[in-house]
Amino acid sequence: MAEPLLSVKNLVKHFSLKGGLFQREAARVHAVDGVSFDIAEGETLGLVGESGCGKSTTGRCVLRLTEPTSGSITFEGQDVMAMDEDKLRAVRRDMQIVFQDPFASLNPRLTVGSIISEALIIHRLASSRSEMEDKVVTLLKKVGLNPDHRRRYPHEFSGGQRQRIVIARALAVEPKLVVCDEPVSALDVSIQAQVINLLEDLQEEMGLTYLFIAHDLSVVEHISDRVAVMYLGRIVEIAPARELYLNPLHPYAEALLSAVPIPDPKVKRPRIKLEGDVPNPISPPKGCHFHTRCPIRQLPLCSEKTPELKQTSEGHWLACHLRG
Ligand code: SF4
Repeated sequence: MAEPLLSVKNLVKHFSLKGGLFQREAARVHAVDGVSFDIAEGETLGLVGESGCGKSTTGRCVLRLTEPTSGSITFEGQDVMAMDEDKLRAVRRDMQIVFQDPFASLNPRLTVGSIISEALIIHRLASSRSEMEDKVVTLLKKVGLNPDHRRRYPHEFSGGQRQRIVIARALAVEPKLVVCDEPVSALDVSIQAQVINLLEDLQEEMGLTYLFIAHDLSVVEHISDRVAVMYLGRIVEIAPARELYLNPLHPYAEALLSAVPIPDPKVKRPRIKLEGDVPNPISPPKGCHFHTRCPIRQLPLCSEKTPELKQTSEGHWLACHLRG
């Protein structure tokens, strides 16, 4: 890979749970537990896993909206972890985020025009009122909305339209990287495809780079160049999207994929049902975090030794003692 636009190394985020009279740390949630990945310019990396696996926390840590406990984040060769508030504000122009719930992320008291203009004002991207108006109109057209919609309020729109407004606001500052945090999960299935297609068109037009977070593997396969599978705070497999879907190596990725319907009726993939639930991230299992549910675990190896993420073939990385 050429010099990556974003490089994340050994990212860790632990949340303290405080309790008792003196509000001392009572427990620690291991939300992200040593995550590493690179994203090249113009690429889409899908990040998938069940809810609570740490994928959204990873996305927020990349922008330092959530402060990481440790690790390194490099964006365009700059050390994001070392940045002070001023530098961080400047770099956030290049790194935007689109959240799952478009209604919660839009101020209900502002018109759509004001919501988009706010981003332009903060980053001083319009020198006059008319330039600002022109930019808002262009952005609304770009995301497939009527320019007259700028005078309306968020509650007057459907979920899909609201997500388009959120995307327009994110694009107002002409970012390089967009972290899409479950951007279509709250939308009807029929609308999901429209928003995904819009994100793909915008990527091509504007040369955007995406970190695309989702729990729905079929959505991620469609939009991603590569996919990283996360389980309980760790990445267990990374591969080019097509290869992962045709040849998943990690037993967890295999189980997740077995639930995804295949459009070709001649191809059958047996459904793998995992036992039990995802363990509590306050006390994740030792060794391989997945060993309590893994159908092929070998004890005591899997319960004692943490498998490292190793390259098994060109661009295909796996963390498993028995596969690869
Ligand atoms: Fe299963 Fe062991 Fe591989 Fe973990 S390391 S996925 S428990 S076989």
